[in-house]
Amino acid sequence: MIAHHFTIDVEEYFQVSAFESRVARSAWERLESRVEGEVVRLLELLARHEARATFFVLGWVAERHAELIRTIAGAGHEVASHGWDHARVTHQTPTQFRESIRRSKGVLEDLTGAPVLGFRAPSFSIVPGREWALDILIQEGYRYDSSLFPVRRPGYGYPNGRLDPHWLTRSAGRLAEIPPTTLRWCGLELPAAGGAYFRLLPYGVVRAGLRRCERRGVPGTFYIHPWELDPAQPRLAVPWITRLRHYGGLRWMARRLDRLLAEFRFTAVRDTVAALLAAPAPPARDHAAALGVVSALGTS
Ligand SMILES: [Zn+2]
Repeated sequence: MIAHHFTIDVEEYFQVSAFESRVARSAWERLESRVEGEVVRLLELLARHEARATFFVLGWVAERHAELIRTIAGAGHEVASHGWDHARVTHQTPTQFRESIRRSKGVLEDLTGAPVLGFRAPSFSIVPGREWALDILIQEGYRYDSSLFPVRRPGYGYPNGRLDPHWLTRSAGRLAEIPPTTLRWCGLELPAAGGAYFRLLPYGVVRAGLRRCERRGVPGTFYIHPWELDPAQPRLAVPWITRLRHYGGLRWMARRLDRLLAEFRFTAVRDTVAALLAAPAPPARDHAAALGVVSALGTS
């Protein structure tokens, strides 16, 4: 049975990119923090199903909730980086990006005592033209990235990216890429990886995406945010489309997650990356050997 990746982007409800124009960065300190209760709920859910996950944590959150980060690691989950303060790569200079991923890695490693291997960009913002971020990740000691979402969406997406875990060969070295899951439908790659798509589309979309990964012999990658399990979070005055994307389906999210965790096996991304790293480096542009290793891991 393939073990898919269960991933969580750990941020406060007011830090999502869609609220940027409504919530000033300077207001964050004054807003009610809810991340702790939300993460504890997720940890309970994962424990009930004996599932492991990767938590991509903002440095800003880690600095304010040290005990929570230790609890996540202590429960056997992987702690990885979601950058420092949710600045999108499309809004950063290379120097700012480097500072953000270096600082968050340092804080997370100090808290857990374990190396931080992975990174996910806020809003999947490593888009075509921003590949320099991948080189900086390699230079800063990261072993994998999970930001190249192979879909075409306004504001994000890496439309021609590969669908399954693979090696990226860059001038700075190599980096494993773990893309969020998509589902091919009528010639289009649809996001089938979680978040608003999991809340608003029929449950069967994500299920079909993960089943197709299983048929290819590779793990899929599912993601959510702690605030998606919190129907009681303070509501911000935002346009209707943002309201729908952020607040739609929050009430049934816990039930859906329960169903998903019962139906599929999940693990942390680091397990797949460990198998990829243990395999001989595949020739550039050929990731078949690496995928074979992923497949073997998933069936163990
Ligand atoms: Zn995020």
